Amino acid sequence: MTVQWQTELADAVCDPAELIRMLELEPGLLEPARAAARLFPLRVPRAFVARMHKGDPADPLLRQILPLGMELVDTPGFSTDPVGDLASRQRPGVLHKYLGRVLLIATGTCGVHCRYCFRRHFPYADESARADGWREALDYLRGDTSVREVILSGGDPLSLNDRLLAELVSALQRIPHIYRLRIHTRQPVVLPSRVDASLLAWLAACRLQKVVVLHVNHAHELDAAVRTACANFRQAGVMLLNQSVLLRGVNDSAETLAGLSEALCAAGVIPYYLHMLDRVQGAAHFDVPESRARTLMVELRARLPGYLVPRLVREVPGASGKVPLPDPLEPAPAEA
Ligand SMILES: *Cc1c(COP(=O)(O)O)cnc(C)c1O
Ligand code: SF4
Repeated sequence: MTVQWQTELADAVCDPAELIRMLELEPGLLEPARAAARLFPLRVPRAFVARMHKGDPADPLLRQILPLGMELVDTPGFSTDPVGDLASRQRPGVLHKYLGRVLLIATGTCGVHCRYCFRRHFPYADESARADGWREALDYLRGDTSVREVILSGGDPLSLNDRLLAELVSALQRIPHIYRLRIHTRQPVVLPSRVDASLLAWLAACRLQKVVVLHVNHAHELDAAVRTACANFRQAGVMLLNQSVLLRGVNDSAETLAGLSEALCAAGVIPYYLHMLDRVQGAAHFDVPESRARTLMVELRARLPGYLVPRLVREVPGASGKVPLPDPLEPAPAEA
């Protein structure tokens, strides 16, 4: 049976010409968009397009998903695999990098294609933990009693259907040393209909402590439907956090970031991480220099209560993982 969100997911906008027509943008954007989409296809649910302003090529939501000619520019220092997670891979789709937390790549697919995504060169690389019915991943988790928390990531784990997810979660909650389930997802933001009765039913029934980490970069992404989805999550006993990426032309001002934190708080979501851009080839035009990022953090601290200031982090290739940037009140290290 196909449910509403699956119909909407299948009906996502994938043709640059259609997007440009819908948003009444300059036809001149079409050729570069087509060229860039050949490397990494356009994909955006209509529910997300509906929050963009017509006729504005600088719309902060549009910029996250519109393929641009700048993506074809080769920039030194940017690579096709900037994160290099393979060193911490234990079994197919199982990453164990940090004490007590294991990350499962539940699927390689996403409901939206963010142009700055570090997986943009492997959009369909589906080395997922699900391939064998979760068997190897579950064996690994049963065998390591130091694991407290299981993180479902991807791709977007909520692009899997509820039957597959409920199966996994019912196996996880039978492992006595596991206490927490964390889900990293953008689906409730780009496709709020995903947060339906069936999803909420298995979440509410799950005995584990539940944390959902959303991915919102700009306050305009939080419309009434997303706020309702958040309220429903919380009613099902889910704690809500958010991670954002610092993106030039999208959210690289103190006012925008403060507005985002305030809007998240109003929706019952605590800002968790603000990521520096992963240096993936084709995304260099989104890069914000580290010195600028640190200045923004100083301004944010002046404007917001501490609990609404996200931690500024950068993903460093190799096993070291997410590295917090030095406290903005300390002097900046000399930049190379
Ligand atoms: C980000 C990440 C985690 C979670 O890190 P937290 O700091 O707990 O949010 C766990 N495992 C891997 C491989 C990760 O990349
Ligand atoms: S939702 Fe996350 S994983 Fe998916 S395309 Fe966007 S940044 Fe990449």
